[in-house]
Amino acid sequence: MGKRRKRRKLVLKPKKRLPKIFTCPHCGAQLVSVKRVGRNYAVVCGGCGLRHEFEPRPGWMPVDYYNALVDLYLEGRVQAARGAPEGSGHETGG
Ligand SMILES: [Zn+2]
Repeated sequence: MGKRRKRRKLVLKPKKRLPKIFTCPHCGAQLVSVKRVGRNYAVVCGGCGLRHEFEPRPGWMPVDYYNALVDLYLEGRVQAARGAPEGSGHETGG
């Protein structure tokens, strides 16, 4: 009987799935997304039109911009657009 050593390296690296859709602090809809606008990052709620642009910060993930937006919102420095969001001319998909 030989010793059988099972050496199985189980290195399961699941893909990090970063959330890309966040909950709006204003309307509560899970419709907030972070997208690149020119050189900036815009955090936009598809529900109420809450929107804010941030300068790019090194190392920041979408969730960081979102958190920053929530902070600003709670401070009353960001306000949602009133009424229905204006139809923007074009939408960049992807
Ligand atoms: Zn909203």
